[in-house]
Amino acid sequence: MKNNLELIKQVNQIYDWLDTQIENNRRVKDSCLACGKCCNFKKFGHRLFITTPELYLHNFTVKESKLMTTDTCPYNQDGKCLIYKHRFAGCRIFFCKADKTFQSILTETAIKKLKEICLHFKIPYHYMDLKTAINQPPLNIYPSDDTPLPPEHEGRYT
Ligand code: SF4
Ligand code: SF4
Repeated sequence: MKNNLELIKQVNQIYDWLDTQIENNRRVKDSCLACGKCCNFKKFGHRLFITTPELYLHNFTVKESKLMTTDTCPYNQDGKCLIYKHRFAGCRIFFCKADKTFQSILTETAIKKLKEICLHFKIPYHYMDLKTAINQPPLNIYPSDDTPLPPEHEGRYT
């Protein structure tokens, strides 16, 4: 449990870091009308990918988790995000009208930080589209000090 809470704390720190970067870039922030249209992925031509630590946080914090049965994120209700406080890194970074280079740098940096969490907590790193991630049974391989390093991490991030 202690490890779970620490992992969640570290993912939230990445989310806070992202929010601060965006807050400090008014041109990016002000470009969004908060219309929620990009949460209909097929119609908008957009895809949302999430990582293993984010899925842990999601499963741990979102009380009424939903399956994705359409092309729209199930947490979009009438254009509003039902899990806004806990929304994923990709949701925070994507701005349809803003500087793509800035968004690419944020994405790369956030992924690096999320991979470091996986390495630190000895959990596998996966980069999954939202539908695949939230439609699978909740991950129950919460990190433990005794968990061996997953094979995909061997020799990486060193
Ligand atoms: S990024 Fe674009 S589509 Fe998505 S909420 Fe903002 S304005 Fe709407
Ligand atoms: S979590 Fe929220 S912001 Fe992200 S795709 Fe779903 S409804 Fe949109």
